[in-house]
Amino acid sequence: MRLDKLLANQGFGSRKDVKQLIKKGKVTIDGEAVKSSSFHVDPKQSEVIVNGKTLDYRDYIYIMMNKPKGVISATRDDKETCVTDLLDEFYTPFSLFPVGRLDKDTVGLMLITNDGELSHQLLSPKQHVDKVYEAKIKGLVTDADVDAFKKGVCLEDGYVTKPAKLEILTADAYSDVRVTISEGKFHQIKRMFDARGHEVVELKRLKIGSLVLDHHLDYGEYRELTEEELKQLQ
Ligand code: URA
Repeated sequence: MRLDKLLANQGFGSRKDVKQLIKKGKVTIDGEAVKSSSFHVDPKQSEVIVNGKTLDYRDYIYIMMNKPKGVISATRDDKETCVTDLLDEFYTPFSLFPVGRLDKDTVGLMLITNDGELSHQLLSPKQHVDKVYEAKIKGLVTDADVDAFKKGVCLEDGYVTKPAKLEILTADAYSDVRVTISEGKFHQIKRMFDARGHEVVELKRLKIGSLVLDHHLDYGEYRELTEEELKQLQ
């Protein structure tokens, strides 16, 4: 790969910025300063040092974000702020995208990556990856709702959901619940409660498969996955 392309792809600035860095002799490859932007380098074989810092070459990036309200699960939109807009510009060259969708008013765990294979694996209906949510529901959620979720709920369009686990945390005029679903139908949890005569007033995703939202992350904050988290998810 051309040296300037590599550095731009790895977040060292625009093609123009990195050409300047290279010209100034700030880049060494296996100990030798390289001043030609068109120099070809294999980042997996050679040690590339930029401004004294060793390039940590990565094909794939994996980020968990605590998605805030008001932000959409997309990569580009003319009017709305997208989850990828919240990322540092370092990540721009990696063409990251969110894995699956959360509604604009849903908060919580969002996985953002450029690994299409992992994304497919997590989203494929055949894989039955569990997603865990906590929700605040208007009205009293009862054991009858728990049973209905266990059997599968018939939505307004006639689709019957796969069995889901509904746990009641507190039940009152507003009930707090935890829901585990293995599918990802459009507005699924809201529609399941709607079919039971309840309105979801708050919804937060806590888990996707083995991946648990880091409770240290405030809304809008994110961090890369640890090696352990990634290994368990793959
Ligand atoms: N179910 C919903 O209704 N909305 C979401 O954002 C996720 C699951």
